[in-house]
Amino acid sequence: MPEGDTLRRLATRISERFAGQVVERSVMRDPRIATVDLRGRTLVDADAYGKHLFVRFDDGRTLHAHLLMTGSFDVGRPSKEAEWKRRIELWMGDGRLTGVQVPLLGMLDTADEHEITDHLGPDLCAVAGPPAAGTIVERLQREPDAPLTGAMLDQRRAAGWGNIYVHDVPFLAGLNPYQPVGRIGALEPVVALATALIRVNAERGPQNTTGRRLHTDARWVHGVGRRPCPVCGTRLEYRDADHTPWRRSITWCPECQPLSDTGARADMARARRLSGLHPAWKRM
Ligand SMILES: [Zn+2]
Repeated sequence: MPEGDTLRRLATRISERFAGQVVERSVMRDPRIATVDLRGRTLVDADAYGKHLFVRFDDGRTLHAHLLMTGSFDVGRPSKEAEWKRRIELWMGDGRLTGVQVPLLGMLDTADEHEITDHLGPDLCAVAGPPAAGTIVERLQREPDAPLTGAMLDQRRAAGWGNIYVHDVPFLAGLNPYQPVGRIGALEPVVALATALIRVNAERGPQNTTGRRLHTDARWVHGVGRRPCPVCGTRLEYRDADHTPWRRSITWCPECQPLSDTGARADMARARRLSGLHPAWKRM
């Protein structure tokens, strides 16, 4: 799933494979960029900010993409997807760059990239380093009644977390996804862990939240539906996207993640017990 770590890895792969190469042929099948012809242009580099991808060219223009839930890029090999799904296809000196089912595509001046990112919170996967956990906590709590999961998904607070981290981080810390973000004690170490997880996964590969079988995308409760809780065996709760205020599905354990009217406190001892083998802990 395209979250900030996926986009950071994608940008790195595009830069490593194609930076400095000339576009030999370009085909656009998206009406918004149908008239754009990048042939003859040199790809300078690629960058990411949160869930946004920027591919820069030597004429001072940038291809901007947002993958939402459906999009992906094939880097290098020719895509096997049907032609109509290949919204953009660039033949480079060394292979092909293909945007598949990318729902948001556009060209803009490189100097204007900030217009896309100005309203976003700090980039959790920024190459320059992570934003301070205290800064993110302050931003998350600007609407103290917002549910924890909704606040973490709000890209104006911090840019990068998606459905995987907003499932598994609250589960690790024993916090209910509906817990008002302003009534959580010890939120800062939770944010530090969530930031370290997405950064480490951006560097090393699969979106792993368990610390076990690190070469896989092993997770706690994201995507498991109504199975028993992997910790206590209680049947997990599930709401589909139409029944959450943040418009994404959510799964949680009613026993391990109780909702508290008076306020909850993150259980970092539980988080360490469950995921202590994950290299993210070394970054905290
Ligand atoms: Zn449980």
